[in-house]
Amino acid sequence: MKYLDEYRDLAAAQRLLDEIRRVSTRSWTLMEVCGGQTHSLLRHGIAAELQGTVELIHGPGCPVCVTDQADIDFACQLAKRPDVMVTSFGDMLRVPGSQGSLLDARTRGGQVKIVYSPLDAVELARRQPEKQVVFFAVGFETTAPATALAVKQAAQYQLDNFSLIVSHVRVQPAMESLVESPENRVQAFLAAGHVCTVMGYESYNRLVERYQLPVVVTGFEPLDLLEGILACVRQLEAGETRLENCYSRAVQMAGNQSAQDLVQEIYQISDARWRGFDLIPAGGLSLREQWQQFDARVRFSDSSLPVILNSECRSFDVMTGQLKPTECPHFGKQCTPETPLGAPMVSSEGACAAYYRYAGV
Ligand code: SF4
Repeated sequence: MKYLDEYRDLAAAQRLLDEIRRVSTRSWTLMEVCGGQTHSLLRHGIAAELQGTVELIHGPGCPVCVTDQADIDFACQLAKRPDVMVTSFGDMLRVPGSQGSLLDARTRGGQVKIVYSPLDAVELARRQPEKQVVFFAVGFETTAPATALAVKQAAQYQLDNFSLIVSHVRVQPAMESLVESPENRVQAFLAAGHVCTVMGYESYNRLVERYQLPVVVTGFEPLDLLEGILACVRQLEAGETRLENCYSRAVQMAGNQSAQDLVQEIYQISDARWRGFDLIPAGGLSLREQWQQFDARVRFSDSSLPVILNSECRSFDVMTGQLKPTECPHFGKQCTPETPLGAPMVSSEGACAAYYRYAGV
């Protein structure tokens, strides 16, 4: 398969593995930021192959996992209203809030529907004017352009029955917050290639210069990941800190300008609560004032719930690289994909789900 098989070539992967082992004089700790990369590293056995040479710790790169519990509770609360239909991506429906998930809300009679795009939610609103259709918008910079487009389309149709729970988060502030933590172990980052396709990667220069650690933009196939790891290790061994792009077939320095313009038009950067992390300065997006008629929190300002934190799940420790999923006392026991205690076991990008699926129980 063109553009896929060549990045899964076994002999080339072996050569890269050998080279990583050859240049490493000690064990380095790298963090892959994206959950998609975590899954690929485990699925292709790369993390296991490099044990003792490179420790790969898993970052907060799963937007479903970091969605604030208060937002899930709010969505569940709205789903209970007879006039409201809550829509979102499939993964989001299973993530537990303090009083159950959206799927639980649906079982109890709430109106909850899976959609594949925010534009599907706009279409539902257009076809059912008697319903208030709420789209639960999660995701990094990669999905924000599509929800920005949905807002514009809803405005074009003059819909007054469409709104968003905006839970979009921004990756780079979370990386900075991780590095600043006293528990930080990250010596280099594999930056998430798909986010960089939209946002470009020039802004990572700030992170490199400020924190003096390598950042390498990396893709998702085995050779992409191995090249990214090798680039990090070479820099670390040479005592260098640079920004590198090992995913040039998809990522340009400036990113996708029209997607950025769209996001800029609809959203503003704001502080955001990440599940487990607390408030991350500039860690999210919120609707600009002129689009706030599409903000579900404004439209349904009478609906909110107190947040009761679930202390059993160690997701914060997992998503900051302090705990391997298999070290969580609940992993594979009380917590499985069928009975998840936390989002990292639910989401298709969650680190706990990746370990459960690929590393055995
Ligand atoms: S194994 Fe389950 S309880 Fe433990 S951190 Fe992962 S999601 Fe949370």
